[in-house]
Amino acid sequence: MAAIAAVTNYKPSAPAMNFLETPTQELFCANVFSKSVMKDRLPKPIFKSLMKTIETGEKLDTTVADYVASAMKDWAIEKGATHYAHVFYPLTGFTAEKHDSFLSPDGSGSAIAEFSGSQLIQGEPDGSSFPSGGIRQTFEARGYTAWDVTSPAYIMENPNGTTLCIPTAFVSWTGEALDKKTPVLRSMQALNKQAQRILALFGHTDGAMVSSTAGPEQEYFLVDRNFYFARPDLLNAGRTLFGAKPPKGQEFDDHYFGAIPDRVLAFMLETERELFKLGIPVKTRHNEVAPGQYEIAPMFEFANVATDHQQLVMITLKRVAEKYGMACLTHEKPFAGVNGSGKHVNWSMGSSSQGNLLDPGETPHENAQFLVFCGAVIRAVHKFQGLLRAVVASASNDHRLGANEAPPAIISIFLGDQLTHVFDQIKQGGASSSLPKGTLEIGADVLPPLPKDAGDRNRTSPFAFTGNRFEFRAVGSNQSIAGPLVAMNTIVAESLDYCATKLEEATGGDSSKLNGAIQKLLTDIMNEYGSIVFNGDGYSEEWHQEAEKRGLLNLKTTADALPFLDKPEVKELFTKYGVLSERELESRLEIYLEQYCKSISVETNLTIEMARTMIFPASIRYQNELAATCANLQALGYEFDKDTLDTMTTLVKSLQDSIAALVSVAAKSDAIECWHEKANCCCYEVLPAMNEVRKYADELEGYVADDLWPLPTYQEMLFIR
Ligand code: ADP
Ligand code: MG
Repeated sequence: MAAIAAVTNYKPSAPAMNFLETPTQELFCANVFSKSVMKDRLPKPIFKSLMKTIETGEKLDTTVADYVASAMKDWAIEKGATHYAHVFYPLTGFTAEKHDSFLSPDGSGSAIAEFSGSQLIQGEPDGSSFPSGGIRQTFEARGYTAWDVTSPAYIMENPNGTTLCIPTAFVSWTGEALDKKTPVLRSMQALNKQAQRILALFGHTDGAMVSSTAGPEQEYFLVDRNFYFARPDLLNAGRTLFGAKPPKGQEFDDHYFGAIPDRVLAFMLETERELFKLGIPVKTRHNEVAPGQYEIAPMFEFANVATDHQQLVMITLKRVAEKYGMACLTHEKPFAGVNGSGKHVNWSMGSSSQGNLLDPGETPHENAQFLVFCGAVIRAVHKFQGLLRAVVASASNDHRLGANEAPPAIISIFLGDQLTHVFDQIKQGGASSSLPKGTLEIGADVLPPLPKDAGDRNRTSPFAFTGNRFEFRAVGSNQSIAGPLVAMNTIVAESLDYCATKLEEATGGDSSKLNGAIQKLLTDIMNEYGSIVFNGDGYSEEWHQEAEKRGLLNLKTTADALPFLDKPEVKELFTKYGVLSERELESRLEIYLEQYCKSISVETNLTIEMARTMIFPASIRYQNELAATCANLQALGYEFDKDTLDTMTTLVKSLQDSIAALVSVAAKSDAIECWHEKANCCCYEVLPAMNEVRKYADELEGYVADDLWPLPTYQEMLFIR
């Protein structure tokens, strides 16, 4: 392959940088309009008012905007910015930005730099080309971006200039959320409100805001850019639609945590520097299980900030990879038969005065509070397992979930042995007064100090307690973490509401009754919802059977999972807590179904095109060579074993037939108008037809002469670094 020559001649185009001159830590937040920059540059009362909004969720006083805008502009211009951009997160899951110049003509032939409070607060990108799922008619195409004070503005660098980026929410002119960000903020507010009620029962009434926290671990692949460009499937669909399994895969377990190759390490060092400048606290980096697979994880942050930062992480990974002659693949399953990529979202909640509310703590009293929060999560995950599955559903994540490597499509909770033991005791306990001696009574009898780090690790669980947080592992590597965070925050808010109501009723303001009330509440929760807890091997066949017996959902595909967004209990959940209106939720369902169908349609077209114009021609060339050799040799009176030719001929015919079958089923799917129906057709008819084409193509790869094969192979892409 020509690509190989290009790769072996590779010289890094990026100059070797002396990172030691300015140590990376000194760069932290260098490009962020951070709290300390604001403190320095804003009048005291303005700064105070802004902090109130950021830290306690108080309504934004719009008069502060002019001051902030002016300080922001001066700071940005000092950093070389010529433009500002409202950055938003449309429902495509990507990041969008609209750039405007600071400069305006002053009427006398020159230009002045201007940036007012109203420009900071509100932008008006032409919203018509972003999906709205029917919310926005074309005659009301306006979409507004609204400054999100809670997420700091930052400078994006480019060799030719810098841009001030302002994180925003994107809403329709009727105030409906057209983005992924707005519901995150709303769900955090809902969670805070309900968590405060629980804290109040424990006597904590200081009002310190309870925020949800998130730490996403991003997995990704790196391949040489020459290979990437030689693969129309990678370029357009983000994954390989063809490719036989390499002779050597991950069977030696030699990649995970292995030594990081030089070019990759150089890339990582620069990525981390860039992320540090943006105030993104990346902490860990390592090789992942598959060859060519890596992971980067930042320290956790408030969920809304983590959401924005996570988008920046993906953008930065891709941008820096280019500089080092590589392509960063964030698709969930770029290579069939090779480990896929996820984005484990570590999630918790906490406040400045209470710390992490999912930290078991040292004393029984702390334990009791922890157990209520933990019990609320258990109930929430059981009650809304379908929703949790739906928010991680996408065409690409379907190749991973339930495919015997990533977590299964069945949502369950791993608690670890010690915590399970505690909850098992709770399950058996009745009211505290009737407890026989020796049985667990929360807060009165001495609970063992709960384990901080649940020593045992379980990699197969989709929702695992990992010492002081839950880790939602079903999230796909290419997804925005907004959806999963909105779901977790809201279902837990609902559950905390339930718990608070029960406890308030049972105690009637008499705190001496709290202990017994908690005992009863948790016992009830475990009896009704405890079946969601499973500590065993999530990949095993027995678990699939056992889960069915327990009545847990097993939604294998996006087509099965997305309709859960339409369930009455889900609509009620989101409307009750003010996170998504019915219309907003319906529009989301429609957009996600549409996206699912569209990605499969793109893959279908690519499969047909590549099979017809690359694989079929290469195959018949080789077939022809074999046939000619055979005829020539026979004419000369030699014998020639026709086996390979026969196999080739059969495979070529099967390839042709399978392409024809795919074309016809794709036409069927195209003709369907209803998105639900189309999604089912894509899932259960188009995808299997695509897999048929691939099957024959991959077999052909094992026969066709290597110099004729038109695509970089798995071996080349995964092992040449
Ligand atoms: P592992 O690979 O063992 O799961 P990592 O160190 O790769 O662990 O990632 C752990 C992630 O969990 C980090 O992003 C970390 O910041 C995050 N995390 C730790 N504590 C919390 C918390 N209270 N809330 C949310 N995320 C957390
Ligand atoms: Mg990890």
